[in-house]
Amino acid sequence: MTHDSRPTTRLYYTDATLLTFDATIVAHDGATTRIILDRTAFYPTSGGQPHDLGTLNNVPVVDVEDGDEQIVHVLATPLPAGTVHGVVDAARRRDHMEQHTAQHLLSALAADHFGWETLSVHFGAEHSTIEFDVANASTAQQDELMERARAAVVAAYPITVSFEESADAIAVGLRKAPPREGTLRVVTIEGIDRSACGGTHLATTAEIGAMVWRGAEKMRGHVRLSYLAGGRVLRHLTAQDALVATLARESSCAESELVEVIPKRNTDLAEARKMITALEEEVAGHRVRALFAGEGAEGVRRVVHRAAGESASLLRAMAQAAAAESRAVLIVAAPPAILVGTSADSGVDAGAALKGAFAEVGGRGGGAARLAQGSVPDLDAHARAVEILLAG
Ligand SMILES: [Zn+2]
Repeated sequence: MTHDSRPTTRLYYTDATLLTFDATIVAHDGATTRIILDRTAFYPTSGGQPHDLGTLNNVPVVDVEDGDEQIVHVLATPLPAGTVHGVVDAARRRDHMEQHTAQHLLSALAADHFGWETLSVHFGAEHSTIEFDVANASTAQQDELMERARAAVVAAYPITVSFEESADAIAVGLRKAPPREGTLRVVTIEGIDRSACGGTHLATTAEIGAMVWRGAEKMRGHVRLSYLAGGRVLRHLTAQDALVATLARESSCAESELVEVIPKRNTDLAEARKMITALEEEVAGHRVRALFAGEGAEGVRRVVHRAAGESASLLRAMAQAAAAESRAVLIVAAPPAILVGTSADSGVDAGAALKGAFAEVGGRGGGAARLAQGSVPDLDAHARAVEILLAG
């Protein structure tokens, strides 16, 4: 970095709606992809709020870091020294303002009405979260909190920023003890909250628009509530609408019927599976009896069933059915799988036989005395394993 340690003037401190600005590069790394300006409207990642995106002289800004006094803009490509014209991505900024302002409101109302202090906040790409210092938050309490927050949206309370000396700010009342001495940036939601914060906020609670909870989870003895605010609620609603429409189309029913149709289909499916299992066992019995019917009357009878495209449960049922035959060893060859089923009077331990074959050709699997199964991905090795098992 070239050196100029003057603090960056944070234009977003006094005007969160300012999205274009002109500035001068005062410091940069040699490659000029990390630059510091004398003033900027770009918000750096801090306080749980992600950084802005946008451009400086049409070069994309890919990251914005808070170096305490100075703000570092990370650029996609180098930028010549001199003056720059900055443009902040309006949609992303607006989205962060909506999530952040909703958080102030929810945190304040939760503290005042339930005594839930906010421990941490996170504004994610999907949803935002607030971790509260409370072990449980009932659905009724969550509902009440949301009702109160929505009422505050309707009331359209002004939100203002002021710069106050620490001692003065505390005297008038601050939600939390300030993190440091000196001048504080205080964000006030009229009649509801005064918090020291460096983030970007909306001008009134009305601008938050909609808010919805998106889930609650317990962690480290605390409750973390997820929510969506502003445009995210509408985007979520649009996506959910499309999802429900797709589900209804795929289910050939009306959207309102899904709630009955899906459980009924699940029940039907479970019954069908039960019936298929019974039929497969019956088919397996017939097949295995037919396979061994023509085999010799004396000695251990070894038979191979070569299968392709048959269900795993049917093949397993066939291997199991070998136990009911006399002096039977059934080898089911369904590459890459091999199953071995034996009858007790064959004297052949299926698991040991398979293990023996795999010891020669490689393969993974195992089993018990009457039934074993495994797989050999290589086709030649698979064929050799079958030969070994057939030879006994
Ligand atoms: Zn804030």
